Amino acid sequence: MKKTLTAVALSAIIASPVATAADEVNIYSFRQAFLIKPLLDAFTEETGIKARVVFSKKGLLERLEHEGRNSPADVLLTSDIGPLYDAVGKDLLQPIDSDLLDKNIPAKYRDADGKWYGLTSRSRIIYASKDRVAEGEIKTYEDLADPKWKGRICTRSGKHTYNLSLIGSMIAQHGEADTQQWLKGLKENLARRPQGNDRAQVKAVKEGVCDLALGNSYYFGKMITNDKKPEQKEWAQSVNLIFPNQGDRGAHMNISGAGVTKHAPHKEAAVKLIEFLSSDKAQQIYAEANFEFPVREGSKRSELINKYMGEFKEDGINLQRIAELRDTAAKMVDKVGFDN
Ligand code: FE
Repeated sequence: MKKTLTAVALSAIIASPVATAADEVNIYSFRQAFLIKPLLDAFTEETGIKARVVFSKKGLLERLEHEGRNSPADVLLTSDIGPLYDAVGKDLLQPIDSDLLDKNIPAKYRDADGKWYGLTSRSRIIYASKDRVAEGEIKTYEDLADPKWKGRICTRSGKHTYNLSLIGSMIAQHGEADTQQWLKGLKENLARRPQGNDRAQVKAVKEGVCDLALGNSYYFGKMITNDKKPEQKEWAQSVNLIFPNQGDRGAHMNISGAGVTKHAPHKEAAVKLIEFLSSDKAQQIYAEANFEFPVREGSKRSELINKYMGEFKEDGINLQRIAELRDTAAKMVDKVGFDN
């Protein structure tokens, strides 16, 4: 009985916002609607195809699974490799064969079978207090476990998808035993129990709660340009940006990306949308509006990002491998009591 009610409720929710005509495309998005609206407006202007978005931070894969072949969704849009990998594991995406996507997106940022494509990249960096951390004092992710940082580091939950991918990259590099030691060391250095989002950690640095914070690179751009919440400019101004491991493997990278759903009613339009998102025009919008790094070769980073971040070395760890290690990473987070 309960199941039936849920099904009815779900279909009632999705009945209204979805498109049916051939010149429409439906997106299930883990990315907030306002982030992608300028991109979708540009897509509609160029192709005449209307794009509709259902945004949710959680539950979209379950919803796709539940809807099965009746799902109105054509495209899944995510802000991390994790959900794309999980969607492939649940057989919710179909392979795409597109010369344009293969040309625009480097092989390391797309699935070999064409089931997912990276659209932007970002690095998980260290935000370091300008006042309390000297230049060159912290250089690597490994350094975060050094006892000299005891009580001086802030981060969001270890279970957050961004941290799971970072821990996954550490396992790929060092193996499980050493990574667990590292994670334990990092936990012992935390200034407070993991909480809040990435920006909240930079705020905590500004307020003197901690001296180092982990955060994704684009949040710096979003804070330093934030006219609506000018206090965020001060948070951003209080830190130096450290791209870790520049002397060895390079900084950990992640992607936002997309895939075409297995039962997409508008497959052609779905492919067109992903192709558009990989175009120079769309990559510029991503770069300027959201301060992410374009994945398309030749597309430029925003001026502001260039000014503050310059060139840096990216690690070459395979994203698929990182995604595979996320379960192990999650168990490790529990094992060391990271969030307690
Ligand atoms: Fe984010």
